[in-house]
Amino acid sequence: MYINVLLNTSVSNLDRYFSYKVPTEMEKLVKVGKRVKVPFGAGNKEQVGIIIEILDSVSYDESKVKNIIEVIQDEYRLSSFNIKLAKWISKRYLCNLSDSIRLMLPPGITRMSNEVYNTKSEKWIHIKDREKILNEYTEIKGLTPKRKEVLDLLLDLDEIKQSELYSFFNINLAFLKWFIKEEIIEITEEKVYRNPFENFNILKDEPFELNKAQKQVYDNIISDIDENIFSEILLHGITGSGKTEIYMQLIDYVLKSGKNAIVLVPEISLTPQIVNRFLNRFGNIIAVLHSRLSIGERLDEFNRINRGEAKIVIGARSAIFAPLKNIGIVIVDEEHDSSYKSEMSPKYDAKEVAKKICEVNKCVLLLASATPSVSTYYLAQKGDIKLLELNVRANPFASLPSIDVIDMTSNKKQNGFSNISEKLYNEIKCNLEKGEQTILFLNKRGYKSSIICQNCGNVYKCPNCDVSLTYHHDKRKLMCHYCGHSESVQKNCIVCGSSEFDSNVVGTQKIEYELSNAFPECRIIRMDYDTTNKKDGHLEIINRFKKENIDILIGTQMLAKGHDFPNVTLVGILNADMTLNMQDYRANEYAYNLLTQVAGRAGRSDKEGRVYIQAYDKDNFVLECIKNNDYQRLYKSEIEYRKNLTYPPFCDIIQITLFGKKEVDVQNLSLDAFNKLKEYMSEYTNKKIMQVYPPVVSAVSKINNEYRWKISIKCKYNEKISNSLKEFIKEYQDNDKIRLSIDINSRNNI
Ligand code: ADP
Ligand code: ZN
Ligand code: ZN
Repeated sequence: MYINVLLNTSVSNLDRYFSYKVPTEMEKLVKVGKRVKVPFGAGNKEQVGIIIEILDSVSYDESKVKNIIEVIQDEYRLSSFNIKLAKWISKRYLCNLSDSIRLMLPPGITRMSNEVYNTKSEKWIHIKDREKILNEYTEIKGLTPKRKEVLDLLLDLDEIKQSELYSFFNINLAFLKWFIKEEIIEITEEKVYRNPFENFNILKDEPFELNKAQKQVYDNIISDIDENIFSEILLHGITGSGKTEIYMQLIDYVLKSGKNAIVLVPEISLTPQIVNRFLNRFGNIIAVLHSRLSIGERLDEFNRINRGEAKIVIGARSAIFAPLKNIGIVIVDEEHDSSYKSEMSPKYDAKEVAKKICEVNKCVLLLASATPSVSTYYLAQKGDIKLLELNVRANPFASLPSIDVIDMTSNKKQNGFSNISEKLYNEIKCNLEKGEQTILFLNKRGYKSSIICQNCGNVYKCPNCDVSLTYHHDKRKLMCHYCGHSESVQKNCIVCGSSEFDSNVVGTQKIEYELSNAFPECRIIRMDYDTTNKKDGHLEIINRFKKENIDILIGTQMLAKGHDFPNVTLVGILNADMTLNMQDYRANEYAYNLLTQVAGRAGRSDKEGRVYIQAYDKDNFVLECIKNNDYQRLYKSEIEYRKNLTYPPFCDIIQITLFGKKEVDVQNLSLDAFNKLKEYMSEYTNKKIMQVYPPVVSAVSKINNEYRWKISIKCKYNEKISNSLKEFIKEYQDNDKIRLSIDINSRNNI
């Protein structure tokens, strides 16, 4: 027997199969998807790989084929579907097969080595033979009073955690030696699952009776589930229309038929509320996978899923690779969210992967959002996917909030506040008097929160990254959010020497500071990267905001995601212009999504909600659409624009980025790459079905001391183009001056 093995390595030229011979005594253990140790290279260095194929013979000199060393025995094994999926990913997103396979391996086995990650275990003390001891109790020799005490307790309990016994009697292993020698007790080691729900407050909850609109959607999806066919559905339902309730009832249905479910949510750690709702409904058959779990915790969840103990997986994008068997539905909540696209290699799109998985499992793929992405909505309009809609809030007493735009040009510098208009100030005051809660939203993405010299306009920038540093009030430091560089604020401008800095830092801290001056009695809490970077940080803030009825929550993008705060009646969007002016062809779509989601935090229960958007560009088209909750209008204008200028969904954009330490190298090789690309792609460019754009310096031109240039391609991406690109990449594989990375429909254009 021979096998083809894929080595675990990120080295591109080893990303192919190597054949090995299997000694007869190991044949039984060999299965596709198992891991093996093999000798590799001239020095026969031990390497770990995955068995991809089993062969009867090899096509070259059999005497040259080496024997495998060992088949690794662990509980996980990749299925043949996993391997197929990995091959598809490596082709579509142009990454190494071993990198795409790694997505599906248990966490922690990053280098695919044999190390079994230390699953936490606990030692238990058991009575070995209870009958025997009870019979011989009076005749046991050497039973001192203290030993008797311990033995009596053990007889009472049968078993006890070693740690508990130690602390109870203040003893240690030396004391237990006698019990072991006399064969009275034995010590066993048991795996314990760490509990990722430790900090969650679990309350049993019952399903709502679905309202008419919900029921229609539910019935429609159920009929597809019953047919056991692949079906892709877009649920376009306004915020608070009861989508999550529908998910839970669909999953309940799927579970009853013996199948399992995956729910993807954007960056799960940001939405502990949704996890809590699922926990309350389904209890411990849910598994949660997200980036803030420790490796051990992730491994525990992985194993629970793999063994079939967890039947519902909730997680961020990589949860789509959970080893869940027998999948009956995949739900992608907030499908418009850009975090479903990975920015690290493999740069896969979790929605595309989900589709592959659902096709194979012949099940429903439910994409849902209040603000669907233009591309998805286009497919629904074309009839390629089924469109279902929910237009009213589920809670019959809740209505959509009123939305007003405040013109900031006529609102400058009153009351001594630079960032809060008179109108919003009064509304906050009114809310404080009524004892209702307020959320203030600040877009931080790309925001100039740097310190500017009022005299010469000098802005402090990170020496490594060429991005403005952000001023942190509490630490009195300027920090880089790309590489972590930090420096103290100088007294005088280093360029002109002036002391007139405007610490016009419109960061969450500055707002907090202004507010606490304006309303000294009021309680304020802040949710941003700094206050939430520890595990469950969001949960803590959200719980406090809710439970302690804190007056004002100030936050960034994290706020936009699905939180349900019944007592919030006022939402202020402080710097809408920042959101409206992102440098991306999706700027309008992003702004509409983000601001609508934020506005949707107001008035979720029976109290009326008010939303105020502060903007300098008050007549902006997107703001009009948001104000009138007019997704259709936004969509029509967007799709028109994209058609005219050929943007997705009318094409794919392939972005090739070149990185290097020396600017000239990067620049020259970018030009070289551009010329090569044109040769490789001439077949398409001649037919005018592809456009290759000349290299440009990236918007963020330097990150971590590496310069970056990029080349963009517009075309309808397909397998043939993928093959040509693969050949093109190979030319740069061994280049020591630059690295090259490819991203298909990247989430942003930097
Ligand atoms: P979405 O996911 O669309 O934002 P949710 O499922 O979170 O909506 O529902 C919004 C609110 O309405 C929640 O508080 C939820 O408990 C409530 N809700 C959902 N369905 C019903 C229903 N059928 N009857 C009454 N309340 C409901
Ligand atoms: Zn200056
Ligand atoms: Zn930096």
